[in-house]
Amino acid sequence: MTGTGKSHGRKSIRATLQPRALITPNRERADAWRAQVITLLPQSFPGTLGESLTGRALKDGLWSLDPIDLRPFGEGRHRNVDDTPAGGGAGMVLRADVMGRAIAQARRDAAPAAPLIYLSPRGRPMDQRMMESLARADGVTLICGRFEGLDERVIEHYAIEEVSLGDFVLSGGEIAAQAMIDAALRLRPGILGNAASIEEESFADGLLEHPQYTRPSDWKGRPIPPVLLSGNHAEIARWRQARARALTRARRPDLWQAWRTRMADAADDIEDDG
Ligand code: SAH
Repeated sequence: MTGTGKSHGRKSIRATLQPRALITPNRERADAWRAQVITLLPQSFPGTLGESLTGRALKDGLWSLDPIDLRPFGEGRHRNVDDTPAGGGAGMVLRADVMGRAIAQARRDAAPAAPLIYLSPRGRPMDQRMMESLARADGVTLICGRFEGLDERVIEHYAIEEVSLGDFVLSGGEIAAQAMIDAALRLRPGILGNAASIEEESFADGLLEHPQYTRPSDWKGRPIPPVLLSGNHAEIARWRQARARALTRARRPDLWQAWRTRMADAADDIEDDG
């Protein structure tokens, strides 16, 4: 038997880099969001997530991170995790049995309602709605592919959801996993300093955010738009909304169309009620 022992392939990163057993239980809060990441590169975590706000929150026990090393689940003396594609062709494919063992172990420890997601260019593209729903879950189990990706049967067997960072191909799922964890975490209570900034930022209401300015008030002959210095909050809100609409319309016709449809539907509802 290889790699199925409870302690194999695990290195918990939470309040400190000590193994889980050495961490006093009250360091990780009961409501902590739990991220598990199955990867051949566990050393690439926490990466950026260990910095700044998400890093502070990790230290404070608001979330925990378990990178699960795929290698110990591999076959034979060399712990092989991949093999050549059935039907021929370039590259290597991650074996279903090897990945299956890693998933089975991860899911035994996962938070009760944590989705199981494979980062994949074939997946549903990430968006803010997806991040909101992830942030509402207790955590997530993420699978990072490498090489040509995963044997299809393991995806089917565990009904794994595929999610993409965008329409391009990365060398592995780790960067996409970190992007996803970051975007979900900052929507959790207590992680960002200022909750109001979440409500106002891009995508929160379906529009891109208005432009931002700060000191100096004049830079290389470019003044800050005077309305922003007027102190008239209603005017400022109107200006920002107008800029947000113009930007969205120019840059993202898809978002603009969806926003207009939503606004029209909302107006209909108000008319129906009245
Ligand atoms: N042969 C695959 C690509 C494999 S890339 C295909 O053409 O679909 C290797 C791994 O990188 C994938 O298994 C996946 O985990 C990750 N990856 C690549 N592009 C990604 C993207 N846009 N979003 C999320 N993960 C991606």
